[in-house]
Amino acid sequence: MCDLWKNTLTHTVPIGAIPQQINHALSQLGGRPGQIKLYNSGSFFDAAAIPPADYPAIAQTVAVVDRVVVESHPRLVGEKALRLRDLLPGTLEVAMGLETVHPQVLPRLNKKFTLEHFSQAADFLQRNKIAVRAFVLVKPPFMDEEEGLEWAVKSAAFAFSWGAAVVSLIPTRPGNGAMERLMETGEFSPPRLATLEKALELSLNLRGGGRVFADTWDLEQFSRCPACFEPRRQRIHAVNLSQQVLPTIDCPACG
Ligand SMILES: [Zn+2]
Repeated sequence: MCDLWKNTLTHTVPIGAIPQQINHALSQLGGRPGQIKLYNSGSFFDAAAIPPADYPAIAQTVAVVDRVVVESHPRLVGEKALRLRDLLPGTLEVAMGLETVHPQVLPRLNKKFTLEHFSQAADFLQRNKIAVRAFVLVKPPFMDEEEGLEWAVKSAAFAFSWGAAVVSLIPTRPGNGAMERLMETGEFSPPRLATLEKALELSLNLRGGGRVFADTWDLEQFSRCPACFEPRRQRIHAVNLSQQVLPTIDCPACG
């Protein structure tokens, strides 16, 4: 249900290639970042994606960073996470796709995990002093606009109940083929910008919750009104940064 496979290799990269790539990226930055995300369009703890023999060299490249975030499928969270944690001077955070807690929709996304896998992985990370971040889909397939909002907030609440420090709300995008087929059959349509905005606000207002971010990558496709898109994008960005619900944008063009 995502388009990350487009950037995925079918073979394992040679030892040393990934640390070299990270070093290259850091050298382009000029300055020391406080946090770094090592997202690999897959699972960091998948040995076929990131050779475990590279962990020490990877850890060395990011040793000056306070917080390192990697992504993983919930079922691949285990001993390798502890190994990476022990190599890092700073904090390790593991981001996992929770997608949705909707009992009928989650199995239909073919992500090959259950809520129990997710909660067990989150619990394991927490007990081992590793921070948890959850990716939540806003309006995955098989939901209308209203359900998309309701289940995004329920999914954020579930992630927080299992100790997630961050929930990242991802508006479900077409672009992987499967989504296009579901659009043709009427089983999927992308969320409206207003649904993402509301999901962000309601998730921020969850009691006992952590930080919430709405993903703004390629956001324009969710807008139906050119007049208010830019101010609304800026507002979402400002909410992400401030973690405060800010006044909504009134648009005379779309009401
Ligand atoms: Zn408008």
